[in-house]
Amino acid sequence: MDKFEDVDYWKGIVLYGLNQATYKIALGKTILELASQGKETIEWHQLSKVYLDTYIERLKTSDNPQQSNPSRRTKMERIVDSLKKGSIDYNGAVNLVATEAFNDVIPRFQTIGTNKDIVGEKFYHFDFGKRLYLHDSTFLINEASKQELSDELEARWSLLEGAFFLAHGDFKLSNDVRDIYLENSYSRTNITGNIPFLQGYQGNTCFYCGERIGNKDIHVDHVLPRQFIQHDEIWNLVLSHSICNMNKNDSLIGKHYFEKLVARNENIMGSNHPWKKKIADSLGGSPKKRNKIMLDHYENAKIVLNNNYWENSPKYNRETDPFFKRLITKLNNK
Ligand SMILES: [Zn+2]
Repeated sequence: MDKFEDVDYWKGIVLYGLNQATYKIALGKTILELASQGKETIEWHQLSKVYLDTYIERLKTSDNPQQSNPSRRTKMERIVDSLKKGSIDYNGAVNLVATEAFNDVIPRFQTIGTNKDIVGEKFYHFDFGKRLYLHDSTFLINEASKQELSDELEARWSLLEGAFFLAHGDFKLSNDVRDIYLENSYSRTNITGNIPFLQGYQGNTCFYCGERIGNKDIHVDHVLPRQFIQHDEIWNLVLSHSICNMNKNDSLIGKHYFEKLVARNENIMGSNHPWKKKIADSLGGSPKKRNKIMLDHYENAKIVLNNNYWENSPKYNRETDPFFKRLITKLNNK
């Protein structure tokens, strides 16, 4: 196994974190900015100021949502908004950031997926509410790869905003196609009951990256996003790592994954498992019929999800993403 470099840990945080909001991305930018200024010890006030400026800058040009929950706005959006409206001044805003915005993001930033042990305190440690101390690794990666890391943070921020925008359901799309799917409202069922069945056809490997899944990390994933497909039928369910599941989020998968799903389903149909009837009921009695129905769903997903592909590319394939493979090997060997 390759040894990880400091910059790999950083990329792991930025690219494969669990992002329910844009906080971590903004903190990444803040940390690199402070590292560029050469500061090892950062007063909380200074940290808050740079973090606030990062959001002010971002929200000047973006009115996309900053978190996935559509019924709420992030603390940072509310603070910047109050500042814009004049109900607080700049110093007041910095103070609010200092006292309210860091509870989650500072302790959780150095996490890959849900695992805090991998990165540890490689990039900083802190005395909460008082100071943040940047470590050598931070200065070294910033010096060596500043532009690359900065571009990556920008790309990730846009990607997340795009995903949250779609999750909020107010995206532009072909309305008639969307209505067909959203009309069939459905109630959430417990899909974890499908795990033993799916394991029979997948073993303990992840549908997306092909690597082994640890027992505690098995997730049932909707290949075409549940938000779009609105049901939990087996033909659309696979097992994956939580990190693959979270990272894919509500994006569209490339055609090669679609073909893999068709093959997986035909594999079930060729077996004698009693549940194969469930697939026949949903998709039809012949391979041709099943393929046609799945393809229709996939083509509709392209329209509704506005070609918002996973990692921005129909060709994106986690099985051949060398960085990800190293990462997941590391995670699995923990
Ligand atoms: Zn995986």
